[in-house]
Amino acid sequence: MSNLELAPCPLCGSYSNFEDININCKDEHISNYGSLYAGKQKSEWKICFQCGFVHQNPRPSKDDLNQFYLNSSYHSNKIPEFYFLENGKHYVDFARWYYLEKIQYAIANANLKGLGKVFDIGSGHGGVLKIFSQDLGWQVYGVEPDRHLFDYATNHLGITSIQNTILDSNTEIGDQVDLVFSNHAFEHFADLDQVMLGIQKILKPGGYVFTAVPTYYQNRSDLSLQWMNSAHYSMFTDKSLNQLFAKYGFEEVTHTYRGWSKEIDDLWHLAQFTGTSVESISFYEDSSKVRNYINITNPVNSIINYPIYSNYAKRIQTINILKQRLRFLKRNLKLLFTSPKLAIANIKEKLFNKS
Ligand SMILES: [Zn+2]
Repeated sequence: MSNLELAPCPLCGSYSNFEDININCKDEHISNYGSLYAGKQKSEWKICFQCGFVHQNPRPSKDDLNQFYLNSSYHSNKIPEFYFLENGKHYVDFARWYYLEKIQYAIANANLKGLGKVFDIGSGHGGVLKIFSQDLGWQVYGVEPDRHLFDYATNHLGITSIQNTILDSNTEIGDQVDLVFSNHAFEHFADLDQVMLGIQKILKPGGYVFTAVPTYYQNRSDLSLQWMNSAHYSMFTDKSLNQLFAKYGFEEVTHTYRGWSKEIDDLWHLAQFTGTSVESISFYEDSSKVRNYINITNPVNSIINYPIYSNYAKRIQTINILKQRLRFLKRNLKLLFTSPKLAIANIKEKLFNKS
Protein backbone atom coordinates (compact mmCIF):
# COMPACT_ATOMS: atom_id res chain seq x y z
CA MET A 1 0.00 0.00 0.00
CA SER A 2 1.25 3.45 -0.88
CA ASN A 3 1.48 6.20 1.66
CA LEU A 4 -0.33 8.94 -0.23
CA GLU A 5 -3.05 11.30 0.92
CA LEU A 6 -5.50 13.57 -0.85
CA ALA A 7 -4.47 17.11 0.05
CA PRO A 8 -6.23 20.46 -0.36
CA CYS A 9 -5.01 22.64 -3.26
CA PRO A 10 -1.54 23.88 -2.16
CA LEU A 11 -2.37 27.39 -3.40
CA CYS A 12 -6.03 28.25 -2.79
CA GLY A 13 -6.75 25.61 -0.14
CA SER A 14 -9.81 24.22 -1.93
CA TYR A 15 -10.61 20.74 -0.60
CA SER A 16 -12.56 19.34 -3.48
CA ASN A 17 -13.29 19.64 -7.18
CA PHE A 18 -10.08 18.52 -8.77
CA GLU A 19 -9.89 17.44 -12.35
CA ASP A 20 -7.62 14.53 -13.34
CA ILE A 21 -4.82 15.12 -15.83
CA ASN A 22 -4.01 12.17 -18.01
CA ILE A 23 -0.23 11.89 -18.32
CA ASN A 24 1.02 9.26 -20.74
CA CYS A 25 4.71 9.56 -19.86
CA LYS A 26 6.65 6.93 -17.91
CA ASP A 27 7.48 8.04 -14.36
CA GLU A 28 11.26 7.54 -14.12
CA HIS A 29 11.51 8.67 -10.51
CA ILE A 30 8.83 6.72 -8.71
CA SER A 31 11.02 3.75 -7.74
CA ASN A 32 13.31 6.12 -5.77
CA TYR A 33 10.49 6.81 -3.35
CA GLY A 34 10.21 3.26 -1.96
CA SER A 35 7.19 2.68 0.24
CA LEU A 36 5.80 6.20 -0.29
CA TYR A 37 4.43 5.19 -3.71
CA ALA A 38 4.32 1.39 -3.19
CA GLY A 39 2.10 -0.30 -5.76
CA LYS A 40 1.95 2.80 -8.00
CA GLN A 41 3.41 3.08 -11.52
CA LYS A 42 3.13 6.86 -11.70
CA SER A 43 2.02 9.90 -9.78
CA GLU A 44 -1.43 11.46 -10.21
CA TRP A 45 -1.88 15.07 -11.27
CA LYS A 46 -4.85 17.37 -10.83
CA ILE A 47 -6.13 20.76 -11.90
CA CYS A 48 -7.76 22.70 -9.08
CA PHE A 49 -11.25 23.64 -10.23
CA GLN A 50 -11.20 26.82 -8.14
CA CYS A 51 -7.82 28.35 -9.05
CA GLY A 52 -6.55 26.24 -11.99
CA PHE A 53 -3.35 25.18 -10.20
CA VAL A 54 -1.70 22.03 -11.57
CA HIS A 55 -0.34 19.85 -8.78
CA GLN A 56 0.31 16.28 -7.70
CA ASN A 57 -2.61 14.87 -5.71
CA PRO A 58 -2.86 12.51 -3.82
CA ARG A 59 0.69 12.92 -2.58
CA PRO A 60 2.95 11.94 0.34
CA SER A 61 2.34 13.94 3.52
CA LYS A 62 4.45 17.06 4.15
CA ASP A 63 6.35 15.32 6.96
CA ASP A 64 7.04 12.20 4.87
CA LEU A 65 8.30 14.31 1.99
CA ASN A 66 10.52 16.55 4.09
CA GLN A 67 11.93 13.45 5.78
CA PHE A 68 12.56 11.89 2.38
CA TYR A 69 14.73 14.85 1.33
CA LEU A 70 16.48 14.98 4.72
CA ASN A 71 17.32 11.27 4.42
CA SER A 72 19.30 12.22 1.28
CA SER A 73 17.17 9.81 -0.74
CA TYR A 74 16.31 12.11 -3.65
CA HIS A 75 19.80 12.41 -5.14
CA SER A 76 20.51 8.69 -4.94
CA ASN A 77 23.21 8.85 -7.61
CA LYS A 78 26.78 9.34 -6.48
CA ILE A 79 28.47 12.69 -7.05
CA PRO A 80 30.42 12.42 -10.38
CA GLU A 81 34.16 11.81 -9.91
CA PHE A 82 35.19 14.82 -11.99
CA TYR A 83 33.44 17.09 -9.48
CA PHE A 84 36.30 16.31 -7.06
CA LEU A 85 39.17 17.14 -9.46
CA GLU A 86 41.23 20.34 -8.96
CA ASN A 87 39.20 21.53 -5.96
CA GLY A 88 35.94 21.30 -7.86
CA LYS A 89 37.12 23.47 -10.79
CA HIS A 90 35.39 21.33 -13.42
CA TYR A 91 32.12 21.37 -11.51
CA VAL A 92 32.30 25.15 -10.98
CA ASP A 93 32.99 25.63 -14.73
CA PHE A 94 29.91 23.56 -15.44
CA ALA A 95 27.90 25.50 -12.85
CA ARG A 96 28.94 28.79 -14.45
CA TRP A 97 27.72 27.51 -17.81
CA TYR A 98 24.48 26.30 -16.25
CA TYR A 99 23.59 29.11 -13.84
CA LEU A 100 25.31 32.33 -14.84
CA GLU A 101 22.59 33.60 -17.20
CA LYS A 102 19.96 33.07 -14.53
CA ILE A 103 22.07 34.91 -11.96
CA GLN A 104 22.63 37.80 -14.36
CA TYR A 105 18.91 37.96 -15.16
CA ALA A 106 18.04 38.15 -11.46
CA ILE A 107 20.64 40.82 -10.64
CA ALA A 108 19.91 42.97 -13.71
CA ASN A 109 16.13 42.95 -13.32
CA ALA A 110 16.35 43.55 -9.58
CA ASN A 111 18.75 46.40 -10.39
CA LEU A 112 21.01 45.27 -7.55
CA LYS A 113 24.25 47.22 -7.70
CA GLY A 114 27.46 46.47 -5.86
CA LEU A 115 28.12 43.68 -3.42
CA GLY A 116 25.02 42.02 -2.04
CA LYS A 117 23.85 39.07 0.02
CA VAL A 118 22.11 36.03 -1.45
CA PHE A 119 20.34 32.97 -0.07
CA ASP A 120 19.98 29.88 -2.29
CA ILE A 121 17.07 27.54 -1.50
CA GLY A 122 18.17 24.00 -2.30
CA SER A 123 21.76 24.96 -2.95
CA GLY A 124 22.68 21.47 -4.18
CA HIS A 125 26.39 21.07 -4.89
CA GLY A 126 26.89 24.78 -4.14
CA GLY A 127 27.50 26.01 -7.70
CA VAL A 128 25.24 29.07 -7.51
CA LEU A 129 26.72 30.22 -4.22
CA LYS A 130 30.26 29.62 -5.47
CA ILE A 131 29.62 31.89 -8.45
CA PHE A 132 28.05 34.57 -6.23
CA SER A 133 30.94 34.47 -3.74
CA GLN A 134 33.93 33.81 -6.00
CA ASP A 135 32.97 35.70 -9.15
CA LEU A 136 30.76 38.47 -7.75
CA GLY A 137 32.07 38.91 -4.20
CA TRP A 138 28.64 38.48 -2.59
CA GLN A 139 28.00 37.16 0.90
CA VAL A 140 26.21 33.82 0.55
CA TYR A 141 23.78 31.67 2.54
CA GLY A 142 21.69 28.63 1.71
CA VAL A 143 19.92 25.45 2.73
CA GLU A 144 20.37 21.98 1.29
CA PRO A 145 18.58 19.01 2.88
CA ASP A 146 20.68 16.35 1.14
CA ARG A 147 23.70 15.48 3.30
CA HIS A 148 25.91 14.36 0.38
CA LEU A 149 25.40 17.56 -1.59
CA PHE A 150 25.75 19.66 1.56
CA ASP A 151 29.06 17.89 2.38
CA TYR A 152 30.37 18.47 -1.13
CA ALA A 153 29.55 22.21 -1.09
CA THR A 154 31.00 22.62 2.41
CA ASN A 155 34.11 20.44 2.20
CA HIS A 156 35.09 20.71 -1.46
CA LEU A 157 33.89 24.14 -2.48
CA GLY A 158 34.52 25.66 0.94
CA ILE A 159 31.07 27.24 1.33
CA THR A 160 30.53 27.03 5.05
CA SER A 161 27.35 29.09 5.36
CA ILE A 162 24.91 26.48 4.03
CA GLN A 163 22.60 24.76 6.53
CA ASN A 164 21.83 21.05 6.11
CA THR A 165 18.07 21.47 6.46
CA ILE A 166 14.83 22.66 4.85
CA LEU A 167 13.81 26.32 4.67
CA ASP A 168 10.85 27.12 6.93
CA SER A 169 9.67 29.67 9.48
CA ASN A 170 12.23 28.36 12.00
CA THR A 171 15.24 29.07 9.77
CA GLU A 172 17.75 31.48 11.33
CA ILE A 173 20.68 32.98 9.42
CA GLY A 174 21.32 35.96 11.69
CA ASP A 175 21.15 38.26 8.67
CA GLN A 176 18.83 39.49 5.93
CA VAL A 177 19.63 39.12 2.25
CA ASP A 178 18.99 41.20 -0.90
CA LEU A 179 18.12 38.25 -3.08
CA VAL A 180 16.67 34.78 -2.55
CA PHE A 181 17.59 32.50 -5.44
CA SER A 182 15.96 29.21 -6.31
CA ASN A 183 16.62 27.05 -9.34
CA HIS A 184 14.25 24.16 -9.96
CA ALA A 185 13.33 23.94 -6.29
CA PHE A 186 9.76 25.26 -5.87
CA GLU A 187 8.30 22.28 -7.72
CA HIS A 188 9.81 20.00 -5.03
CA PHE A 189 8.64 21.82 -1.91
CA ALA A 190 6.39 19.80 0.36
CA ASP A 191 5.07 22.88 2.17
CA LEU A 192 4.97 26.03 0.05
CA ASP A 193 3.58 28.17 2.88
CA GLN A 194 6.43 27.29 5.23
CA VAL A 195 8.96 28.11 2.50
CA MET A 196 7.32 31.52 1.95
CA LEU A 197 7.40 32.25 5.69
CA GLY A 198 11.08 31.29 5.68
CA ILE A 199 11.73 33.66 2.74
CA GLN A 200 9.92 36.54 4.47
CA LYS A 201 12.16 36.03 7.47
CA ILE A 202 15.53 36.03 5.72
CA LEU A 203 14.80 38.70 3.08
CA LYS A 204 15.33 42.44 3.56
CA PRO A 205 12.24 44.63 3.08
CA GLY A 206 12.22 45.44 -0.64
CA GLY A 207 14.34 42.35 -1.37
CA TYR A 208 13.87 40.05 -4.35
CA VAL A 209 13.12 36.38 -5.05
CA PHE A 210 14.29 34.74 -8.27
CA THR A 211 12.53 31.50 -9.14
CA ALA A 212 13.24 29.16 -12.02
CA VAL A 213 10.77 26.29 -12.32
CA PRO A 214 9.79 23.70 -14.90
CA THR A 215 6.45 24.47 -16.55
CA TYR A 216 3.84 23.06 -18.92
CA TYR A 217 2.95 26.55 -20.20
CA GLN A 218 4.43 28.18 -23.33
CA ASN A 219 6.19 24.86 -23.93
CA ARG A 220 8.43 23.89 -26.78
CA SER A 221 8.73 20.15 -26.12
CA ASP A 222 7.00 17.24 -24.42
CA LEU A 223 9.49 17.60 -21.58
CA SER A 224 6.84 19.95 -20.20
CA LEU A 225 4.48 17.03 -19.58
CA GLN A 226 7.25 14.73 -18.36
CA TRP A 227 7.84 17.31 -15.61
CA MET A 228 4.60 16.00 -14.06
CA ASN A 229 6.22 13.05 -12.29
CA SER A 230 6.54 11.76 -8.74
CA ALA A 231 9.57 13.98 -8.01
CA HIS A 232 7.51 17.17 -8.45
CA TYR A 233 4.44 18.39 -6.57
CA SER A 234 3.64 21.74 -8.17
CA MET A 235 3.68 22.82 -11.81
CA PHE A 236 3.68 26.62 -11.85
CA THR A 237 2.87 29.25 -14.43
CA ASP A 238 3.65 32.95 -13.94
CA LYS A 239 0.06 33.39 -12.71
CA SER A 240 0.17 30.61 -10.13
CA LEU A 241 3.57 31.80 -8.84
CA ASN A 242 2.02 35.25 -8.49
CA GLN A 243 -0.94 33.74 -6.65
CA LEU A 244 1.44 32.16 -4.13
CA PHE A 245 3.64 35.25 -3.80
CA ALA A 246 0.70 37.66 -3.47
CA LYS A 247 -0.37 35.87 -0.28
CA TYR A 248 2.96 36.90 1.29
CA GLY A 249 3.26 40.49 0.08
CA PHE A 250 5.34 39.92 -3.06
CA GLU A 251 4.77 41.56 -6.41
CA GLU A 252 6.10 40.37 -9.75
CA VAL A 253 8.91 42.41 -11.30
CA THR A 254 9.20 40.37 -14.49
CA HIS A 255 9.07 36.85 -15.89
CA THR A 256 10.02 34.98 -19.05
CA TYR A 257 9.38 31.58 -20.60
CA ARG A 258 12.27 32.15 -23.00
CA GLY A 259 15.10 32.93 -20.63
CA TRP A 260 17.61 30.28 -21.40
CA SER A 261 19.07 29.18 -24.67
CA LYS A 262 20.27 25.94 -23.15
CA GLU A 263 17.17 24.40 -21.65
CA ILE A 264 13.54 24.69 -22.61
CA ASP A 265 10.20 24.56 -20.85
CA ASP A 266 11.23 26.44 -17.76
CA LEU A 267 9.89 29.69 -16.35
CA TRP A 268 12.04 32.43 -14.84
CA HIS A 269 10.31 34.78 -12.44
CA LEU A 270 11.45 37.69 -10.30
CA ALA A 271 9.33 39.10 -7.47
CA GLN A 272 9.91 41.86 -4.94
CA PHE A 273 8.84 41.87 -1.30
CA THR A 274 6.81 45.10 -1.17
CA GLY A 275 4.43 44.11 1.63
CA THR A 276 1.56 45.23 -0.62
CA SER A 277 -1.60 43.24 -0.12
CA VAL A 278 -2.78 42.01 -3.52
CA GLU A 279 -5.77 39.64 -3.63
CA SER A 280 -4.34 36.27 -4.68
CA ILE A 281 -7.75 35.55 -6.26
CA SER A 282 -6.84 37.98 -9.05
CA PHE A 283 -4.27 35.41 -10.26
CA TYR A 284 -6.67 32.44 -10.39
CA GLU A 285 -6.63 30.64 -13.71
CA ASP A 286 -9.68 29.23 -15.48
CA SER A 287 -9.47 25.46 -14.94
CA SER A 288 -11.16 24.61 -18.26
CA LYS A 289 -8.63 26.76 -20.12
CA VAL A 290 -5.80 25.03 -18.22
CA ARG A 291 -7.26 21.64 -19.19
CA ASN A 292 -7.49 22.61 -22.86
CA TYR A 293 -3.96 23.98 -22.77
CA ILE A 294 -2.55 20.74 -21.36
CA ASN A 295 -4.63 18.46 -23.59
CA ILE A 296 -4.43 20.37 -26.87
CA THR A 297 -2.15 23.42 -27.01
CA ASN A 298 0.78 21.82 -25.20
CA PRO A 299 0.99 18.69 -27.43
CA VAL A 300 0.59 20.85 -30.56
CA ASN A 301 3.40 23.15 -29.34
CA SER A 302 5.60 20.08 -28.84
CA ILE A 303 4.99 18.82 -32.37
CA ILE A 304 5.58 22.21 -34.01
CA ASN A 305 8.68 23.03 -32.00
CA TYR A 306 10.29 19.61 -31.75
CA PRO A 307 12.36 19.91 -34.96
CA ILE A 308 13.83 23.19 -33.71
CA TYR A 309 14.20 22.63 -30.00
CA SER A 310 15.00 18.95 -29.48
CA ASN A 311 18.53 18.65 -28.05
CA TYR A 312 18.65 22.45 -27.99
CA ALA A 313 21.60 22.77 -25.62
CA LYS A 314 23.73 20.52 -27.82
CA ARG A 315 22.79 22.43 -30.95
CA ILE A 316 23.71 25.75 -29.40
CA GLN A 317 27.05 24.26 -28.33
CA THR A 318 27.74 22.99 -31.86
CA ILE A 319 26.77 26.33 -33.43
CA ASN A 320 29.07 28.17 -31.02
CA ILE A 321 31.99 25.88 -31.86
CA LEU A 322 31.39 26.40 -35.59
CA LYS A 323 31.23 30.18 -35.09
CA GLN A 324 34.51 30.10 -33.14
CA ARG A 325 36.22 28.12 -35.92
CA LEU A 326 34.93 30.47 -38.57
CA ARG A 327 36.25 33.48 -36.65
CA PHE A 328 39.64 31.76 -36.24
CA LEU A 329 39.80 31.00 -39.95
CA LYS A 330 38.90 34.58 -40.95
CA ARG A 331 41.47 36.04 -38.57
CA ASN A 332 44.29 33.86 -39.80
CA LEU A 333 43.43 34.23 -43.48
CA LYS A 334 43.86 37.99 -43.04
CA LEU A 335 47.06 37.39 -41.10
CA LEU A 336 48.48 35.25 -43.94
CA PHE A 337 48.93 38.44 -45.97
CA THR A 338 50.51 40.55 -43.25
CA SER A 339 52.44 38.08 -41.04
CA PRO A 340 52.37 34.67 -42.70
CA LYS A 341 54.71 33.16 -40.07
CA LEU A 342 52.38 34.05 -37.24
CA ALA A 343 49.35 32.77 -39.13
CA ILE A 344 51.04 29.43 -39.78
CA ALA A 345 52.10 29.19 -36.13
CA ASN A 346 48.51 29.84 -35.04
CA ILE A 347 47.13 27.20 -37.38
CA LYS A 348 49.76 24.70 -36.25
CA GLU A 349 48.91 25.31 -32.64
CA LYS A 350 45.20 24.91 -33.31
CA LEU A 351 45.79 21.63 -35.12
CA PHE A 352 48.17 20.07 -32.63
CA ASN A 353 47.06 21.64 -29.39
CA LYS A 354 43.33 21.15 -29.25
CA SER A 355 41.69 23.63 -27.02
ZN1 LIG B 1 -6.60 25.89 -6.02
